[in-house]
Amino acid sequence: MKTENTYKDKGNTKWYYISKIEVVCPKCTSKATLLTPNQNQSKPELKCSNCYYSKTGFEYSTFSNIRKIVCEKCNSIFNLETKDLLRTVKKTNCKCPDCEHQNQVEVEFDLYKNGGMYNQQAKDQYFGLDFWYMTNFKSNCFWAYNLDHLNEIEYYVSAEIRKRHLGEYQSMVEKLPKWVSSKKNRDEILNAITKLKSKTAENKP
Ligand SMILES: [Zn+2]
Ligand SMILES: [Zn+2]
Repeated sequence: MKTENTYKDKGNTKWYYISKIEVVCPKCTSKATLLTPNQNQSKPELKCSNCYYSKTGFEYSTFSNIRKIVCEKCNSIFNLETKDLLRTVKKTNCKCPDCEHQNQVEVEFDLYKNGGMYNQQAKDQYFGLDFWYMTNFKSNCFWAYNLDHLNEIEYYVSAEIRKRHLGEYQSMVEKLPKWVSSKKNRDEILNAITKLKSKTAENKP
């Protein structure tokens, strides 16, 4: 048995990796770092070492939360998409496409269902920025929070033998979707990881 082909699960959960998310800088599209709130970090903090853009504080945005709106004037039904609204917004104007009446509607945030780390969009839940390590894999979105996270997934995917950790909870690698852990996708996943590692702002995978 070759030891280099054995993955030994240390039992880290995703929370171990999530404190630092590498994201696409909204100003220069290079790789920027988002520190997420935890015991030592009270507010989310975004920093780009390429253009020095930085941003601190809570500014939740929503993600494609589409609602049906009934126009209060003509009863027409249309969609309101509350994408990219700030978390502090309570009401928004939306114009009826039929009678052009401005309806004032309450904004509903669906952050934890559709946003951030639980979704398939690979966007952070504070500023709504795309994860840096993200690519389409067949009809799925493959992503990692940061390089450590990506390396761990690579280590796991490439191993012939995968050894479980002893804890009773599920670790990050045990929660990977089947299409990532499945051996039949192994070479293609590893290929995608290699491409992600060589990604620059100009060469998007
Ligand atoms: Zn930047
Ligand atoms: Zn109307």
